[in-house]
Amino acid sequence: MESIRNNWTKEEILEVYNKPLMELLYDAATVHRQYHDPNTVQVSTLLSIKTGGCPEDCGYCPQAARYHTDIEGNDLMSVQQVKAQALRAKASGSSRVCMGAAWRNVKDGPEFNQVLEMVRTINKLDMEVCCTLGMVTENQAKRLAEAGLYAYNHNLDTSEEYYKEVISTRGYEDRLETIENVRKTNVTVCSGGIIGMGESVEDRAGMLVALSTLSPQPESVPINALVAVEGTPMEEEKPVEIWEMIRMVATTRIVMPKTQVRLSAGRTEMNREGQAMCFFAGANSIFAGDKLLTTPNPDVNEDMEMFKQLGLQPQKAFVKAPQPETIEAADSQFESLGEKPKWTRPEHTIERNEAAKQKSSLAAKE
Ligand code: SF4
Repeated sequence: MESIRNNWTKEEILEVYNKPLMELLYDAATVHRQYHDPNTVQVSTLLSIKTGGCPEDCGYCPQAARYHTDIEGNDLMSVQQVKAQALRAKASGSSRVCMGAAWRNVKDGPEFNQVLEMVRTINKLDMEVCCTLGMVTENQAKRLAEAGLYAYNHNLDTSEEYYKEVISTRGYEDRLETIENVRKTNVTVCSGGIIGMGESVEDRAGMLVALSTLSPQPESVPINALVAVEGTPMEEEKPVEIWEMIRMVATTRIVMPKTQVRLSAGRTEMNREGQAMCFFAGANSIFAGDKLLTTPNPDVNEDMEMFKQLGLQPQKAFVKAPQPETIEAADSQFESLGEKPKWTRPEHTIERNEAAKQKSSLAAKE
């Protein structure tokens, strides 16, 4: 087994990405077999615990308050609602629940306390708990860890260079800082990105440089294909071709051999043959459930049928890392600090984001 490299260059990654496809697939499948059981796929359920109304301007996201999309927003779910959904997810084969809140960053207070209680509740169901709540401070990451959080998701989305074409309300360094804060705990890191946002192949390689040079590399890397939602600045982007997805998955597998590579948004556009090639190329995780936060996803029965057809087994919980302990709120070592960290606001102008914002305010006046 080769050791994990944390010094991949963009040129080397491009060389891998652009190999003749059969060679790329063979190499990726070979690495995959060295580090993982090729017939096991981890299944996560993504739950939007607070939808819409987000102050950020991510150009791909229908939850940004500034764009006019059809999604229905909702306030933070109750712990009981989340527990019911987690039990349902467990019964249908999920080993992990990932809770997403449309926040710029976590704010100390009753809502965060409620999320901590959700983490405790799901960990006690013996499921892996993941959260994606925006930027977090070190103290907040420690409080999440203490509650029993297994993974924190914070995507880099794309390369540092292209990030400025996607988001203007925060900087790449904020993302990296949050990942660093999570790394100060035992919580595993989930961080990946989206292809199909108008970025070049160099940008895709650039994102893989940023992820693979993190030490340690993220334990899971979701690879999303943009779902172009009407009303968002990226509504007119062309769908990602399956070949691009396969190349991206295979390259990710080669540069991050131990990582769980997750097929995420955009799976409804992929047929079974395409998904099978992605699994062969090293994808070993999917999101289950008919919705991914706000965009469509294949339903659970369809996925289980696919697993049967391909001879795949859902991965059990805590196979890759032990189950964290849950400390009750009353015994917590970390208090709420009421911090007001200064995350950056680059506030540069992104033409298509501005155009979508204006279109949205005109629509609101009609
Ligand atoms: S991706 Fe997250 S941070 Fe960006 S607008 Fe959507 S909900 Fe907000």
